[in-house]
Amino acid sequence: MNVVSGAPHIVTRFAPSPTGKLHIGHAWSALMAHDLARENGGQFRLRIEDIDGTRSRTAHADAILEDLRWIGLDWDGEVFFQSQRLPIYNAGLDRLKAAGLVYPCFCTRADIAASLSAPHGPEGSLYPGTCRQLAEAERSARLEKEAHAWRIDMAKAVTLAGALTWNDMDAGTITADPLAAGDVILARKDAPTSYHLAATLDDADMGITHVVRGQDLFAATHVHRLLQALLDLPTPFYRHHRLLLGPDGKRLAKRHGGLTLADLRAGGVDPGQLVADLRRGVFPVGICVGNA
Ligand code: GLU
Repeated sequence: MNVVSGAPHIVTRFAPSPTGKLHIGHAWSALMAHDLARENGGQFRLRIEDIDGTRSRTAHADAILEDLRWIGLDWDGEVFFQSQRLPIYNAGLDRLKAAGLVYPCFCTRADIAASLSAPHGPEGSLYPGTCRQLAEAERSARLEKEAHAWRIDMAKAVTLAGALTWNDMDAGTITADPLAAGDVILARKDAPTSYHLAATLDDADMGITHVVRGQDLFAATHVHRLLQALLDLPTPFYRHHRLLLGPDGKRLAKRHGGLTLADLRAGGVDPGQLVADLRRGVFPVGICVGNA
């Protein structure tokens, strides 16, 4: 597919969560997004997904900017910090509340795990719908005094939105199947949004035309496509690239050690050479690109 078709001006982004250090898998992903923009005279934006108050660290966010500068990746415009955009996510949630498409969920993880009826979806157990079925009186009473998340009523939302597709640069036209994700959380008990809602609203606000991210987020795109339809947002092109795997065949993670950009820098690695190698698909010994 011609990646430029339908998009006169390409805008891509890299959107790391500052919950740890960047490793070469992140660098590879960032480079793909960066190069797609630069090769087409477009823009490359940076967004720090720091809504997880318990796991996000300012020190990690600072280190991400330093690591990206070290490998020579320059981004356009201001860095977006999700923690500074909570009112925007609230407004998005309010629209969905007004449309009757979300409901408060009081369940704990233990409640959900204990539910024998929890069916399985692409990302583990699906929410069994306990709080969707609450009577209005109980819901209002509990809303007053109990911590709650907000979940989408997926069946209702899908019925309202109708058939949806997106253009995937590698996989072609994909028919969205958000129902498979179940009633996902759009606002958490401990944060006024969730990854799905924040990322979808941000991609639209940042004018992202091409979302380049790992295959691990393919299932999320089904949900994002639905949210775009419900919130009248444009749909970008997507590329879900394969993931880098460690010598054990598992996706790169902290346990693989020595592959963070900070480690490589401390070890005297030349960043120009590192980037040239990543662009050519040459990785450190034992690291390879996954098949699926
Ligand atoms: N923050 C997500 C991550 O670090 C990426 C989100 C995205 O690219 O949409 O895995």
